[in-house]
Amino acid sequence: MRAIFALVLAAILAVPAAGQEGYDPGEPRWSFAIHGGAGTIRRENMSAKQEAEYRAALDAALKAGEDILREGGSAMDAVTAAITLMEDDPKFNAGRGAVFTWDGTIEHDAALMDGQTRAAGAVTGTSTVRHPILLAREVMRHGRHVFLSGAGAESFADSTDLERVDNEWFATDARRQSLERMKAQALSSLDVDLKFGTVGAVALDLDGNLAAGTSTGGMTGKRWGRIGDAPVIGAGTYADNRSCAVSATGWGEYFIRVGVAQEICTRLRLRWDQMLQDAHDSVPMDGEGNPQYVIHASELWLEAQDIQDIADAVLAEVQDLGGDGGVIVTSPFGPAIFSFNTPGMYRGRVTSAGLREIGIFGKGE
Ligand code: ASP
Repeated sequence: MRAIFALVLAAILAVPAAGQEGYDPGEPRWSFAIHGGAGTIRRENMSAKQEAEYRAALDAALKAGEDILREGGSAMDAVTAAITLMEDDPKFNAGRGAVFTWDGTIEHDAALMDGQTRAAGAVTGTSTVRHPILLAREVMRHGRHVFLSGAGAESFADSTDLERVDNEWFATDARRQSLERMKAQALSSLDVDLKFGTVGAVALDLDGNLAAGTSTGGMTGKRWGRIGDAPVIGAGTYADNRSCAVSATGWGEYFIRVGVAQEICTRLRLRWDQMLQDAHDSVPMDGEGNPQYVIHASELWLEAQDIQDIADAVLAEVQDLGGDGGVIVTSPFGPAIFSFNTPGMYRGRVTSAGLREIGIFGKGE
């Protein structure tokens, strides 16, 4: 099908480049983005020291991924390298420093997806695996199942070489206090957490492959084996080389209901298909019914604003239902974009074309 679209109007050759941060269509390139959660993150609530610490942590995670991609490593390796680093950092709600369940334990959720094969691995309710994202990767590699839970996931972990720790190893005083405050004052998890500290990463590698990963402790005071969006393929995590890679953070129940990550990728794929179709249809035919002009599909391009609009529209659906949060989205078309309907989101992005930035607060702050 795509081969047919190699024949398209020459004028459309002018479409790419502008606004693409120096990207040249067809040129090998990589792109990487991370998040460390979205939420009520405002400059006035953060000391200069705290801000510097978050920036340093985001910088380190960004660097872990970009170093791999620059050397020609895979999107999957870049995503796992950044996430394992953030899982060990108690500032984020993943691995060590994850939030507490109602019962005072820590239960992790994590997922990974490979955009080339659409292979995926996910785990929920694990309690002794130091790096849940690596367990998700083992599930994906093993290939028989996509999603393992609780005791079964732990027993699968026994068959791997992954590092195990006591559940207490993940605990931090700050998170314990959040749970205690929640119980004592009958608060919701949103009141005590103020922000979602889930971590995630999305990557495009030099081979053109996409990957996405997300890891979290969920939401403070979660009960009854609650599973958030992070490990649900299509909700908090999704990757498909035909469109994009997405990792989400936010109020998981709403992200599951909207199917956020896959919805963004599907809209983007259909938009791209439509663009190809429109270009094809616009080519005039000669007297014998053959196209008069030749153009390669790689000369067509979705603008960053198109992708931003799609992500914003899906996040607006989350908001309409009453939820909030954010996403990072990378695609073959240019630098990753961020979309969030919270005051801030810990985030960073970097590309082979030289763009590199870290952000915490919302626009204008
Ligand atoms: N999305 C996660 C969940 O609902 C929470 C977060 O983003 O921190 O489990």
